[in-house]
Amino acid sequence: MFDAKPKLGGLNEYGLATYKTAGDFAQQEIEWLLSIGGIEVHNGQQLGREFTLDSLLARFDAVFLGLGLVGVNALGIAEPQVSGLRDAVEFIAELRQAASPAEVPVGRSVVVIGGGMTAVDAAVQSRLLGAEQVTIVYRRGPEAMSASTVEQQWAQTHGVTIRHWAAPREVISEGGELRGMRFAATALKEGKLVETGEFFTLEADMVLRAIGQTYVAEPAGATIKLKGGRIATNEDGLTSHARVWAGGDCRHGGRDLTVEAVEHGKRSAVSIDLALRNPAAAAEPQQTLETQHG
Ligand SMILES: Cc1cc2nc3c(=O)[nH]c(=O)nc-3n(C[C@H](O)[C@H](O)[C@H](O)COP(=O)(O)OP(=O)(O)OC[C@H]3O[C@@H](n4cnc5c(N)ncnc54)[C@H](O)[C@@H]3O)c2cc1C
Repeated sequence: MFDAKPKLGGLNEYGLATYKTAGDFAQQEIEWLLSIGGIEVHNGQQLGREFTLDSLLARFDAVFLGLGLVGVNALGIAEPQVSGLRDAVEFIAELRQAASPAEVPVGRSVVVIGGGMTAVDAAVQSRLLGAEQVTIVYRRGPEAMSASTVEQQWAQTHGVTIRHWAAPREVISEGGELRGMRFAATALKEGKLVETGEFFTLEADMVLRAIGQTYVAEPAGATIKLKGGRIATNEDGLTSHARVWAGGDCRHGGRDLTVEAVEHGKRSAVSIDLALRNPAAAAEPQQTLETQHG
């Protein structure tokens, strides 16, 4: 196993709010998994930096890519360099790795922009750390949020306000200090999201971007074909390369959940095992679909 980060565990170690996976859950799970033996771990090794897919294929018979989504979407407006404006995933990662949560500065008035699990985790975490006012702002209605109804309720019962139908317009700052965020009200018109012409401002000394993570294709290289911006595979995880499988969030067509990433890993392991035992019967690689950046 090769992983870019100093610890294994991916988002379960670095990405989920501390209240969700308490008690060093990810490391305990990894310890248990590695106890089956015969697994070599190389941390701090990034595909595309320390090694390439070709160099792996020269050394190993099969490769499984579980690269997750390491790109973060920008707000799509001017984003000045001000303290307090940051990515929600980075805020959570810092908290997860801090010796004490008290070390990580949190604003008094926090605005979180987004509608998924990252937004909910960052908002609830901010409240638990003592922020007085926490507002999630999402550009569509509650049913379009990718955070489940249960998670939306979880945020609300933890004192987080959720404001729907508003899109970020302007970061408001003074002398390099964040002061707030101006939003444009939105609505659906003939199925399209449009701005209504009304605006409002929320005061904030911390604004967290949580508008989605993306698959970054460059490290795996152009041999691995994409669909919808993620890796195209068959149902067993086989990619466009006959000796490369992929699973988890980086694979097209999934639901971005841990339980599904585990299922992908299991199915790919069975498929890899079959392919290695009986190469003649192995499935055809995915001759699809899109170009590298499709
Ligand atoms: C805030 C938040 C809350 C969530 N809450 C839940 C929840 O409650 N329940 C749930 O089921 N799911 C939740 N999820 C989703 C879940 O965390 C992911 O679906 C799951 O972690 C996907 O696993 P993965 O292995 O595909 O990717 P990741 O967990 O992202 O792991 C990818 C790994 O690949 C490594 N890597 C990336 N690029 C390279 C490279 N070039 N070279 C080497 N290594 C590399 C990374 O370091 C990382 O270890 C949440 C996600 C977020 C962001």
